[in-house]
Amino acid sequence: MTRQLISAALALLPGEQSPKPASIEVDLATGTIVDIRPGLEDREKAQGYDEVIEVEEGKVLLPGLIDTHVHLNQPGRTAWEGFQTGTLAAISGGVTTLIDMPLNSIPPTTTAEGLRVKREEASRVGVNCDIGFWGGIIPGNAGELVPMLGQGVKGFKCFLIESGVDEFPCVNEDDLRKACEALKNTNALVLFHAELVADDSHAHENHDGHDHESGSTSSKDPKSYSTFLDSRPEEWELSALELILKFAKSYPQLRFHIVHLSAASALPAIRQARADGIKNLTVETCFHYLCLKAEDIPDNATQFKCCPPIRDEKNRQALLKAVLDGEIDYVVSDHSPCVPELKKGDFLEAWGGVSGLGLGFSLLYTELGEKGGLSRVVDWMGARQAEQVGIKGQKGELRVGAKADFVVFDPEKRFEVTLDNLLFKNKVSPYLGKQLKGLVEKTYLSGKLVWDVSKGQGGAALSTGSLI
Ligand SMILES: [Zn+2]
Repeated sequence: MTRQLISAALALLPGEQSPKPASIEVDLATGTIVDIRPGLEDREKAQGYDEVIEVEEGKVLLPGLIDTHVHLNQPGRTAWEGFQTGTLAAISGGVTTLIDMPLNSIPPTTTAEGLRVKREEASRVGVNCDIGFWGGIIPGNAGELVPMLGQGVKGFKCFLIESGVDEFPCVNEDDLRKACEALKNTNALVLFHAELVADDSHAHENHDGHDHESGSTSSKDPKSYSTFLDSRPEEWELSALELILKFAKSYPQLRFHIVHLSAASALPAIRQARADGIKNLTVETCFHYLCLKAEDIPDNATQFKCCPPIRDEKNRQALLKAVLDGEIDYVVSDHSPCVPELKKGDFLEAWGGVSGLGLGFSLLYTELGEKGGLSRVVDWMGARQAEQVGIKGQKGELRVGAKADFVVFDPEKRFEVTLDNLLFKNKVSPYLGKQLKGLVEKTYLSGKLVWDVSKGQGGAALSTGSLI
């Protein structure tokens, strides 16, 4: 056994509100934590180890973070992102586990064969953090769902509105019922892009924003953000919620999840459903809905365009409160990039999707670190998401038996987001210029240092991740 000792004056252990001194022993052969002892050990005792890491004073040792909503787009749209660049961005922000969405790769992950192709491609090019995969539900693929589950997908995403790519069509109630029937002997997780056009007279503008018809927005200024915002009303999220709740009641053994909730006006209905005994519904929101607001978005600033849209300040405050109150379960990036050419033009033409992988923890800590406390911020990007995808105990916490994924975090460091902070492929991001507090300095994956901010991209240890 090759033994590593991590000695940290400040380590955030499970169940603790604040960091405490701890000595953590790692078996490097398996990459797992084998012992955690309170306090720091004297130098003599530390000599018996093959490797000793002393966390610098003032820096906090955290578990590796998790992001369960990322679009890596490989194979098929590798110009948009890729396994290598996306996972490099992830480790630069302390994310050691991410779950890849079933679109916008080609093939999409809607068949067991599509999953096989994706896993093979990821293994071929290598990944810089551990990654897992979501499957997708589209019309006609109900027969593929149980086989995909058998091959390790963490659940299934579907759209209730056009997705933006032809190979991933949205589902109607009938398709959904077939999918749930196929899954009914499992406890599978079904994820919803929860916008549903209640009234057919509305234009069907798809998820990632390419309008098939300009509909009611045609007379307004497409350069103005408010035109786009008006085209994706909150009511669409409320209509979707109504349908999802119907399914949650009909299939209590399945688990249902709303991805990227944007409309705070949906929260009372979620609260009520839970009060009425619905136990199989979870909700996530994204960094961009918590950290950005419509009032600040300049004309043609399409790097802010995503679906559902970033809404106003009042909405943002209500979402922040819901995260603090525990009504929103956790927070993800929905990192969904494209090539810069597709972001050109006005708000109605440009592709929808926000890029920010790697910035999430600093964004969330800046916004909620003081009010929520460091341990809760870690929980929203750690244990809570681990539990959702069935890897609790292995990921997201500093715990004996867990993978030795660590983050060294400087809670006091202030920085401005510049191009140097963007490690993903296409450097288009609404966060450029933002002032943040709290920086991930180092990331360890299975006990191995994979990211050190002082060394930058050239110093990163690549391709040490696994498929989970
Ligand atoms: Zn997404």
